Amino acid sequence: MPMLSEPSKKYRPYTPLNLPNRQWPSKTFTKAPIWLSTDLRDGNQALVNPMTIEQKTTFFRELVKSSVKQIEVAYPSASDTEFAFVRGLIEKNEIPDDVWIQVLTPAREDLIRRTIDSVAGTKQAILHMYNATSPTFRSVVFRNSKEQTIDLAVKHTKLIRQLTEECTTKHGTKFIYEYSPETFTQTEPDFAIEICEAVKNAWGKAGLGDERIIFNLPSTVEIAPPNHYADLIENFCDKISEREKVIVSLHPHNDRGTGIASAELGVLGGGDRIEGCFFGNGERTGNVDLVNLALNLYTQGIPPNLDFSDLQNTIDIVTACNDLPVPARYPYAGELVFTAFSGSHQDAIKKGFEAQRLRHEECIAKGEPQFWDMPYLPIDPADLGQTYEALIRVNSQSGKGGIAYLLKEHLHLDLPRKMQVAFYQVVQAVSDREAREMTVDDITSAFRSAYHYGSAYKGRLSLRSFKISPINDEKSRATGDTESGEDDDIRRRFDGTVSVDGGYRVIRGQGNGPLSALLDALRTHLALDFAIREYSEHTINDADEGENARAASYVEIVPAQNRKTTSTSQSWWGVGVDSDIARSGLRAVLSAVNSAIGDGLELPELNISPGFDSKSAQEDVASVIVSQLGLELPRRFQTAFFEVLQRKALEIGNEISVDGVTELFKNTYNYQNDKAPTKVCMKSFKLDQLDANRRALSGSFAFFGGAPRSISGSGNGPLSSLLSALHSQIAGTLSIRDYWEHSIGEGSEVRAASYVDLMYEVEGESSKKVKSSAWGVATDTDITASGVKAVLNAVNDLDVVLKN
Ligand SMILES: [Zn+2]
Repeated sequence: MPMLSEPSKKYRPYTPLNLPNRQWPSKTFTKAPIWLSTDLRDGNQALVNPMTIEQKTTFFRELVKSSVKQIEVAYPSASDTEFAFVRGLIEKNEIPDDVWIQVLTPAREDLIRRTIDSVAGTKQAILHMYNATSPTFRSVVFRNSKEQTIDLAVKHTKLIRQLTEECTTKHGTKFIYEYSPETFTQTEPDFAIEICEAVKNAWGKAGLGDERIIFNLPSTVEIAPPNHYADLIENFCDKISEREKVIVSLHPHNDRGTGIASAELGVLGGGDRIEGCFFGNGERTGNVDLVNLALNLYTQGIPPNLDFSDLQNTIDIVTACNDLPVPARYPYAGELVFTAFSGSHQDAIKKGFEAQRLRHEECIAKGEPQFWDMPYLPIDPADLGQTYEALIRVNSQSGKGGIAYLLKEHLHLDLPRKMQVAFYQVVQAVSDREAREMTVDDITSAFRSAYHYGSAYKGRLSLRSFKISPINDEKSRATGDTESGEDDDIRRRFDGTVSVDGGYRVIRGQGNGPLSALLDALRTHLALDFAIREYSEHTINDADEGENARAASYVEIVPAQNRKTTSTSQSWWGVGVDSDIARSGLRAVLSAVNSAIGDGLELPELNISPGFDSKSAQEDVASVIVSQLGLELPRRFQTAFFEVLQRKALEIGNEISVDGVTELFKNTYNYQNDKAPTKVCMKSFKLDQLDANRRALSGSFAFFGGAPRSISGSGNGPLSSLLSALHSQIAGTLSIRDYWEHSIGEGSEVRAASYVDLMYEVEGESSKKVKSSAWGVATDTDITASGVKAVLNAVNDLDVVLKN
């Protein structure tokens, strides 16, 4: 049958109450009502598969944990299971002292007796009796007149008084009496009041506090808008006698989808108490939801007296017990209620958080409360035990603001606006391609791989070691151009070792600052010609990194010939993070260069042509040594070896191969050769600490093939002690002009490499001082041994003279 064109021929509107002086519309909330959970009775009765005793017990414990103090636990006369459940709670001491359990009974003597038996012995119980009072039920279902209906309620109220008093005497159980005229909203308002007055008289002992009688006024089926329910409640509250001895209880259902509104307006109408279920379970469309009502109060700044600090846990327990899902859009509890997908919402939330943080800092300083005021978020998810994780989720509707927010939350990176735009395009491309929501992991991974951020995402170029030094060179200062952001007067030199496609390259360049010096080095050695268009940095103070603040740098590079053109030309962004600000900037430049060269561009190979006119050959030779031997030669050592190489090249009149360079180095410096030293040979040594500042070195050394001698010396450190020991045998003066060390390899394979530039001064023929110097290099697992060996290595290259 189709929907009717004239539904008025089938459905009648509700009859409004004539209440010209109604007060509730101008009232406001001041405190939480008394809550009664009927999850285990009304809620349970509505389930396809009613809960087992085990599930009901679990649910009961969750209600207690959530601070519900009145819990309707069963309809004990309905089944043995229900009866047994109540007995079980009592006998296993599940009921805390401040919790009232409630049991429901119809107005029938045998069932009332059984109901009271079920609670005998518990500390306190609410005995809840109902009978049908609405005209339809009176005439159709029970064929009772108004008088008969009142008589029924009165007679059984008296019986309940008698039986509960007997139970109190015998078992000490304290009772509150609750009566429901069923169904209140469809009962004539005056008749509902009349029957409640009769019941109150029959009970005969309504008092104050815990002695109050509860009149529960169910909207068993919602038949009118919530304002009508509020009118009915206000009317009842005004007319019932001895109002102070009565608790007016509301029991809304949700047939019109206005259960929450009915409950809230009913409280304004005078209701003291609300019966409902968690997440709105219950007959048909359910009972009113207590969680929703409580959190509505909470967000008005009113303590709800219910605790949902771990709301997800409550959801998990409740849904496991009643097997009903909480819909994704459900108020407060739905999966998506704290999530923004749309770009403009995400942007507003991101800005809202930033503004709120600043506002709260001011409030803390002034000692004022830190009010919650966030776009699209009526409540702080953290109060409900939710993280901000789900707050912003990214799909094709999302904007750069949300993505930037996620990166800030998860990587502590606050991208410059233009980089947000650039990365947004990366995410959009992935999101469009995959046609699905992007998780936080998807986004951080996309970021890491786009910008080669993190050790697992290394690009083709990465920084191994570097040195930035000023150039005090008037000429280069005079010709230096002023690059943006680096208008320092002093020009800088970048000397470093960079990993290139797995090998090492020693590169060197100059600029007005570290970054332009690195770009110069890349231009000179790798034919990569870029300029910086934008640079920014910020510190990262994340608690998990301890006290050491780190710096994050962001760089936008363009092809060098485009540096002065408009911002529409192609550009690449890079990011670098390091505890050292210079290194973080250099990393950012390499990150951007990695993006620019991608996988395709071939980088120029190392080409050894040690001719005298080659500009880059010296660094290229150093590149061979670091790639082949792992040795990062100090710059002056590079120069020294380069001269050796040039002489060799002239001698053989040929280009030298990579292997040839390596061999020459090994032979020249007796490095990794089995050839025994001819001048000074160390058999053993040991080092002693004399005091805080002085060391002593002693050992067995052979000189010019002689028998080993024990020698010793002392100094500020191992190497000066060694020189002092050698001076006992060697004429003249040995002194260290330059020393440098670094590690090679990783983990248990790690070794130390030491380099020493040793000077020797001795009186030659005709008393003339003769000066000479030599480089020594050595490696050892022990750093001291490596230094000592490097010195001896140099000594063997010098024309040392023994003392007479
Ligand atoms: Zn109900």
